[in-house]
Amino acid sequence: MKKIAFFCIPAHGHTNPMLPVAAEFVRRGNTVRFYSFDEFENKIKAAGAEFISCDSFLPKLTMQEEAGLKNVSTTEMTIQDIRITLSMNDFLEKEFKSFQPDVVYTDSVCFWGKLNAWKHHVPMVVSTSTFAFNQLSSEYMKNSPKEMADMIFGLPRVSGELKKLEPYGYHVKSALSLVQSDNDTDSIVYTSRRFQPYAESFSDHYAFVGPSVFSNVLPEKKKDRPLIYISMGTVINDRPDFYSKCIDALKNLNVDTIISCGNTINREKLGILPDNIQVYPYVDQLDVLARADAFITHCGMNSVSESLYMATPMVLYPQTGEQYAVARRVTEIGAGIMLKDDSSGGIRTAIQKILNNKAYGNAAAKCSADFRACSGTAGAAEFIENAPHSSDGIDIIGELNKANAKFQLLYWLGVIIAINLMGFLVSWKYVWIIGIAAGILTSPIGKAIQKRNYASLTRGITHSRS
Ligand code: UDP
Repeated sequence: MKKIAFFCIPAHGHTNPMLPVAAEFVRRGNTVRFYSFDEFENKIKAAGAEFISCDSFLPKLTMQEEAGLKNVSTTEMTIQDIRITLSMNDFLEKEFKSFQPDVVYTDSVCFWGKLNAWKHHVPMVVSTSTFAFNQLSSEYMKNSPKEMADMIFGLPRVSGELKKLEPYGYHVKSALSLVQSDNDTDSIVYTSRRFQPYAESFSDHYAFVGPSVFSNVLPEKKKDRPLIYISMGTVINDRPDFYSKCIDALKNLNVDTIISCGNTINREKLGILPDNIQVYPYVDQLDVLARADAFITHCGMNSVSESLYMATPMVLYPQTGEQYAVARRVTEIGAGIMLKDDSSGGIRTAIQKILNNKAYGNAAAKCSADFRACSGTAGAAEFIENAPHSSDGIDIIGELNKANAKFQLLYWLGVIIAINLMGFLVSWKYVWIIGIAAGILTSPIGKAIQKRNYASLTRGITHSRS
């Protein structure tokens, strides 16, 4: 029997998928010690794990830092992650000595879990609550200018904080190296290989186990009239404006509607509700999705996975780059449409499109079957128990990088030759045009070549794991 230390950041979307895995471990007779936060105590104890409260290590936040975290600022989250790691250092030093875990199972952005597993040389498996993102799959993200500015201008602050880790024995190259998926780290991803973008670029260190849900319940859609479910998740859900537009869009349609609006909204702000619309701070989402015919979602990975698991097609309303990546993949498999016009008229049209065209529901049902065929929490538990793993296949990312270096060399050699030819044979006056054109074209040409190389490298590859 093994001792497994679970680590996660204080977020529902990251903690929820780890819970059924914890329950499975306990069922198999292992000991699970889950380092988490008071908000999650009941859920963790209900899974049968030992709960260790880490609330006292949370730093006191300024109003600006609090606002940054609420808006999912990457800079603010990274800095808080580092600060918590530092304040937990002495405590975890003692815990690793006394508990002596056989394996660490840590969320992919929980720095204190990852860094302590490395420091104490304990086999580690990473829990990836969204898609696995490497240089290929991260192309799916579309960061807003605000998100880009946050990342670029936050870099000096982040690198300043990262330097503070070194004296405690935590060796980190960059913040990206701490969060990006690489082909050497054992990782669980809560989706199927079919749904993961560029799945074949991930090595056998990855187990795609399907959505981590507590329910085996099958979808049951038969009823008098369609049910619409609306949720913006548990983080950026303070959107009374959006809920009001949804109410306006759906009040005169022959549908029932359930809105989960979170704890921060004063429901009176939404006015007197029509008979066909109910608003709750929190619902049993899986239960609602099992019955729902359409889901208006912010495209958090868990919500989308649960929706597909319950064969519910979606109206996609992503708010962050990561959510955009998930939304884009849903449109690719045909199980939803992007909400481009978020006026009440636009919302009504999108819902009608989903309800009137069976193809969306059928695509979601196909994905549901695919998810249910995955190895699930039992597969995740087995993978973690048997860590560390090896991978014998070719490293697709390594091969692509080698091919790209070769392309860049030849490309810029070609550009230099072209500049010289033009200079000597025509005129030196306009050679700068070639330089600028070459600079602009290098990225799209490089990407097109990378795609072609990916297709040829992955042809015929089969992975030993799902
Ligand atoms: N959730 C729920 N009831 C609600 C709203 C959300 O059970 O009323 C759960 C949902 O099932 C999902 C999680 O909260 O597991 C939200 O995670 P997601 O990744 O979708 O979004 P986030 O909240 O992290 O933005």
